[in-house]
Amino acid sequence: MSTKVIIVGSQGRMGQALLRCLPNHAGLELAGAVDQGDDLNAVIRQGDVVIDFSAHAVTGPLTARCAQLGKAIVIGTTGHDAAELAEIRQHAATIPVVLASNYSTGVNTLFWLTRKCAEILGPDFDLEVVEMHHRLKKDAPSGTAKSLAEILAQVRGLQLDTAARHGREGIVGERTKAEIGVHSIRGGDVVGDHTVIFANVGERVELTHKASSRETFANGALRAAGWVVKQKPGLYDMQDVLGLK
Ligand code: NAD
Repeated sequence: MSTKVIIVGSQGRMGQALLRCLPNHAGLELAGAVDQGDDLNAVIRQGDVVIDFSAHAVTGPLTARCAQLGKAIVIGTTGHDAAELAEIRQHAATIPVVLASNYSTGVNTLFWLTRKCAEILGPDFDLEVVEMHHRLKKDAPSGTAKSLAEILAQVRGLQLDTAARHGREGIVGERTKAEIGVHSIRGGDVVGDHTVIFANVGERVELTHKASSRETFANGALRAAGWVVKQKPGLYDMQDVLGLK
C-alpha cells in the first residue's frame, strides 16, 4: 500500500519541486497539497506523512497537529529559533520527525565522506572548504559550508569559532595546523557547489558536491517521507534516513 503524502508550502519553490518529483517515487502517493489560506484540516487525516517546506513559524503548530493525529512529519523548513526547535523536539516524543537543513542525498554523503576522510588522513593534512553560489545569495559562508567546517573541527578537536579562516589577504603568515580555511565565491546562477580540500605535501584529496536543481532537495525529502513512516517516535535527520550513522 502507498504512503500518502501531504505537502505544506505547495506553492513555493520547494513545494513545486516536490510536486514535480513525487510521481517518480514508487510507494508514495499525493494525498494533499496545502499553501497559505488553504484548510489543512480538510486533508491532513488522509495523509500518513506531512512534508513541510513553508516558513519557520508554521512548523511548530503543524508538528503539534501531526502529533495529535499520529502523523509522521518531514521538516525541510529552516530558520527556526530555539523555542520553535524545542516545540519540534517535544512532539518528536509522540511521532517520528525528520528535521534536516539539507535533504540532498549527495550533500549528506559528502558530510559522511568528509568525516571519514578527515579521520583517515589525520592531522598532517591542511583543511580548506570552498563554496560557490549564485549572485543573489545573501549570506556567506553557506550553511552547508559551515556544517562541513564543523565536521572538520570536530574531528580535529578544534573550536570552529577560532579555527575558521574566512578568506586570506595581505601578510597573513604561514598556514598553521590549527586553521580551517573557508572561502565563498559568488556568481551567475550556481545552485550550490561545495569542495572540501585535504592537502599534504606531495598529495591532495578533494571532495566535491555540485547541486544543479532544487529537485535534489525534493527527492531527498520524499525519500525521508517513505522512511519516516516506518520509524518509532523520535527526532531523526537525513543521516539517519540514509543509514550513514
Ligand atoms: P518559498 O517562499 O518559495 O515557499 C514557501 C511556501 O510556503 C510559500 O508558497 C508560502 O505561501 C507557503 N506558506 C507560508 N505559510 C504557510 C502556511 N501557514 N501554510 C501553508 N503554506 C504556507 O520558499 P522555498 O524556497 O520553497 O523554501 C521553503 C523553506 O524550505 C525555507 O525555509 C527554506 O530555507 C527551506 N529549504 C530547505 C531545504 C532543505 O534541504 N532542508 C532546501 C531548500 C529550501
